[in-house]
Amino acid sequence: MHCPFCGEADTKVIDSRLVAEGDQVRRRRECLSCRERFTTFENAELVMPRVVKQDGTRQPFDEEKLRAGLMKALEKRPVSIEEIDAALNRIKYRLRSTGEREVKSMQLGEEVMTELRQLDKVAYVRFASVYRSFQDINEFKEEIERLSQGNGETAADVARALADKQSGKGKA
Ligand SMILES: [Zn+2]
Repeated sequence: MHCPFCGEADTKVIDSRLVAEGDQVRRRRECLSCRERFTTFENAELVMPRVVKQDGTRQPFDEEKLRAGLMKALEKRPVSIEEIDAALNRIKYRLRSTGEREVKSMQLGEEVMTELRQLDKVAYVRFASVYRSFQDINEFKEEIERLSQGNGETAADVARALADKQSGKGKA
């Protein structure tokens, strides 16, 4: 985004928020050269940040891939398509409103875990066990104990997911 005052190519986003019911992103930018500030309105669809993988390669944000990841974690779980879509939209909303042009794939993974944790704890464990690659099995157990506190039904489900994980069946 070029500065309209001096033409400098490097401008810094200082504030970013979604407007027009999330269709547009309003950004306050500051020119790194002349320090003038200006506002831009950008089409939100065009500003989904690119995803930086751990090996440093960049990929366009892939909504279908994200949806597939959520669906896989939620396979045979009592969670509706509407709830999955709503989670997907919240993730996209948060990514867009960061104002960043690129996000690390790790950040994307954390967003998915935040949503799965609310939606379904078994799905969360499935995803986290693959994604976060726990340091050792004790760390994994601690996470499960923390998750299942105060919820007897979920504790049994989570224990089953852990058994699957240990026997390798739950590995995606
Ligand atoms: Zn300038």
